[in-house]
Amino acid sequence: MRIILFGSPGVGKGTQAKILSSKLNIPHISTGDILRLAVKEQTPMGIKAQEAMNAGELVSDDIMFGIIKDTLEQDRCKDGFIMDGFPRNHLQAHVFDEMLAKMDIYNFYVITLSAKEEEIIARLTNRRACKSCKTIFTLSEIENLDKCPKCGAEKSFYQRADDSEDVIRHRLEVFKESTQPVLKHYETKKKVLYIDAEGSVEEVNNRILLALKDKEPDSITISVL
Ligand code: AMP
Repeated sequence: MRIILFGSPGVGKGTQAKILSSKLNIPHISTGDILRLAVKEQTPMGIKAQEAMNAGELVSDDIMFGIIKDTLEQDRCKDGFIMDGFPRNHLQAHVFDEMLAKMDIYNFYVITLSAKEEEIIARLTNRRACKSCKTIFTLSEIENLDKCPKCGAEKSFYQRADDSEDVIRHRLEVFKESTQPVLKHYETKKKVLYIDAEGSVEEVNNRILLALKDKEPDSITISVL
């Protein structure tokens, strides 16, 4: 199964992608994670991407096409993937269609997550992650903890450089201007599933699985609560 998780920064794409990846046994491809690793390792690509990322801008399309081409060629993606963070503008959507068509792939779902803007800003300002296992937490979940409850790493929590309030607001503007219109592209192809992303992580995950099960009863064999 091939899935594009679509929605604004902070709506929960990364969290849901990780759960879906383990339940459906398909790889989670987060372009943000790939770029953050490149920045951390200061590769030539990371050095080029760093400034745009810290400012909440989109990284250049050329860099993104390189990442996606390399990723799609990997063996682990041959039977499916969950794209998280790509495509983010019209050109990326068109080039992605072409890449998939070359691989004879025409069938994929665009799962659109949506939530109110106040909820999204609150989620982003309170978002923390573990440096070691990358699990995402809310501030209240880890406030008095020294160790990551998932992997046990000590003092490993951090806030993403682009999760400061002014950068968050800019990222939301970039989303409205460049990314949101991409949905029209997929709506004309009738591939979109609309999911209410408010509520608990489990509730949202169940909504996604039910929507997929409705489309592909045979592929979703796991039980949905
Ligand atoms: P994310 O983790 O998906 O919120 O991405 C973090 C940052 O990485 C974004 O704010 C962009 O600067 C960059 N980025 C991730 N995916 C893309 C993309 N498809 N196109 C351009 N920039 C991207």
